[in-house]
Amino acid sequence: MRSAIYLDGSWQRPESPDAIPVFDPYTEASIGSVPECTPAEVGRAVAASRRAFASWSRTPLKERLDHLDAIAQGLRERAEEMARTISEELGAPIVDSRASQVGLSLTGFDGVVSVARGYAFEEEIGTSLVIREPMGVAACITPWNYPLHQITLKVASALAAGCTVVLKPSEVTPFNALLLTEIIDRAGLPPGVFNLVSGSGAGVGEALVSHPDVDLVSFTGSTRAGMRISELAAPQIKRLCLELGGKSAAIVLDDADLEIVVPQVLERCLTNAGQNCAALSRLLVPASAVERAANVAAEAAGAYTIGDPRDESVRLGPVVSSTQWDRVRGYVRAGMDSGARLVCGGIERPAALSHGYFVPPTVFSEVRPEMSIFREEIFGPVLGITGYESEDEAVALANDSDYGLSGAVWSADRDRAVGVARNLRTGQVTVNGGAYNFLAPFGGYKRSGLGRESGRYGLEEFLQVKSLQL
Ligand code: NAD
Repeated sequence: MRSAIYLDGSWQRPESPDAIPVFDPYTEASIGSVPECTPAEVGRAVAASRRAFASWSRTPLKERLDHLDAIAQGLRERAEEMARTISEELGAPIVDSRASQVGLSLTGFDGVVSVARGYAFEEEIGTSLVIREPMGVAACITPWNYPLHQITLKVASALAAGCTVVLKPSEVTPFNALLLTEIIDRAGLPPGVFNLVSGSGAGVGEALVSHPDVDLVSFTGSTRAGMRISELAAPQIKRLCLELGGKSAAIVLDDADLEIVVPQVLERCLTNAGQNCAALSRLLVPASAVERAANVAAEAAGAYTIGDPRDESVRLGPVVSSTQWDRVRGYVRAGMDSGARLVCGGIERPAALSHGYFVPPTVFSEVRPEMSIFREEIFGPVLGITGYESEDEAVALANDSDYGLSGAVWSADRDRAVGVARNLRTGQVTVNGGAYNFLAPFGGYKRSGLGRESGRYGLEEFLQVKSLQL
């Protein structure tokens, strides 16, 4: 179904021959293409969604959630096929594709269903009955880095809330979305409840955001695109949920064990070849410990197996595209030119590899706040280490960012770490390596976004509140 689009409950041949090629970042070869939908097709998808909203929004919650359970079951049955699809188009190591790409998607999906099942859609406040109703037609626009996870979180929350959906996945990694659409189709949702259009952000994405019959836009992607979407949505005061970029800092306090903590920070920086919105890409350590932290990081970086994403032993695959490859290596060059010390890695593809968009695990130390590698989201496997003189300076450095998505604090004293975490201007903070929790809200302060995803907060993004005064 890779050359079709999904409108009003059926696969349809695209109107235009225009298509966007998709590449395998390991072989660098084209592996197919997806249609560039026309504005008319976007209009048909929104119209189908609007028609379906009338009945889907009134379908009993239990029935809606039964449909979602059927989709999750379909995904479970095709999990291996999905993991291989994501490895091929994204370059994610197959082990990560299974665990973090497909595994986390399923956990997130199930989390939404369980939250919706226990959610109070109505409550009495004083003399009023407060009702939470579905917003309407939701446009879901998603990126390529955790492609399935971003889609499933949005689509599951929207459908559970009673909204209908038009999905536009990333044109860089669209095949997982097409496979998911096959699964949704087989799960038997009523026609029009879920629709998929494919194509570019500037063309199809903007047509969708600007469409007057779209009630809300749930977007995950770059801050640049988030700004453009805000402009397009403004004339209609459309509801927006924007999950944007990040430049997250890990503060290692002076009582933490560097030998244990630094490899964990590096892992949270290099995951998915550093293409992670919450990547811990800035490591802040006491000034006297910079050199030791750099040595520990270099040793840990040397242990990563780099290569073919299909190889079960590989931990670091290529970055997603030649554009991303150029961009990441441009930042590494800028880091070297601006006087940061290159501890390991660099711009060369590892010698044993003759093709693929590989960037070796790269660590800089002596990174200063005015450098682009401190300030800008690199979205590649690049860690920068900066020294601080006091706890206050560590917090000020962490907060010295246009972004505010995530962060981390490590200390031998948990209460001290929590105290520092409270001072960080970010939507989430990991304390001493705490595990990711799907029921907790995820989202950003500052230019990292608006609104929250996951759990109850994620469901509420798709709900409108009405008060009946009784
Ligand atoms: P991107 O902004 O280029 O594209 C994301 C999606 O938006 C794609 O589907 C694209 O086609 C579409 N798009 C682009 N321009 C658009 C426009 N003007 N109008 C409508 N749609 C448009 O981002 P990307 O390169 O795919 O993803 C990487 C970015 O996503 C990084 O900045 C990363 O931090 C961010 N991200 C954030 C989160 C989060 O939860 N905060 C999660 C994952 C990724």
